[in-house]
Amino acid sequence: MIQRSQRTIARTASVSGVGFLTAADVALRFLPAAPGHGVAFQRTDRLFAPPIPALVSYTVPRARRTAIARCGIAVEMIEHVMAALAGLQIDNCLVELNGPEPPGCDGSSLLFAERLLDAGIVDQGVPRERLDLSHQVVVQGDDNGQSIRGGPADDGRLHISYTLDYGPDSPIGLQRCSVVIDPETFLSQLAFARTFVLEHEAQALREQGYGKRTTARDLLIFGPEGPIDNSLRAPDECARHKILDCIGDLALAGCDLAGCIEARRSGHQLNAEFVRRMKLSHAETIWPSTVLKAA
Ligand SMILES: [Zn+2]
Repeated sequence: MIQRSQRTIARTASVSGVGFLTAADVALRFLPAAPGHGVAFQRTDRLFAPPIPALVSYTVPRARRTAIARCGIAVEMIEHVMAALAGLQIDNCLVELNGPEPPGCDGSSLLFAERLLDAGIVDQGVPRERLDLSHQVVVQGDDNGQSIRGGPADDGRLHISYTLDYGPDSPIGLQRCSVVIDPETFLSQLAFARTFVLEHEAQALREQGYGKRTTARDLLIFGPEGPIDNSLRAPDECARHKILDCIGDLALAGCDLAGCIEARRSGHQLNAEFVRRMKLSHAETIWPSTVLKAA
């Protein structure tokens, strides 16, 4: 990855829709922000809600999604918005929303990315911090099949490989996908890939009161024979979506990354733990943070 300038959007962009989890009608706005601002989310439906920086230190434990919170106010399921911003290398942006989670859209990052591109992206003339993975960082899940590991990349770019393997009985077969991440590959290979869930998991979520306005046409719900009422956009769409999730979660580092990341069955909690350990073990090498702090 070449050292680059921080970027924001030229104008405000908007996306409206229904939240997957809470079924709330939500209007979301992306607003331009100054260099050094980073990405932050702010609830406009809650009085005195502060902006919540989209950094791993603000994450709160949740099942199957990434959420951040500050002063007791949370924003749920930020990962697909974060993937769109990080995938397009938009570093400074205030994300306003009048509900507890972004619109689910089609379960991918595509609509967010399209609206951000329509708004225009501008260089801000200030170097973007970056972290070059200089040694191995490994995080394993509770069962041995889950892991995410990262190490150096010869070409200074960010490579992400994902292996999705839920075993021989899963209707989602073994999928493996590798992508060298930049805005072009993000748009052409990843942004369209939708969230997926197994039929029994969707049923359990509904019994918990989630997803009341979300159907099998809105995202991928896998029954024994494959997607219900839907068809895949790519044979390995699920692995591509998992890479999209990784991009959104790795962006919680708050800087660009260069290195080779290999994830196997990892989810949001493991991804966040990877970001924590990576930042701790590379704290002295994030460039040019020391320069910025001294200025
Ligand atoms: Zn996702």
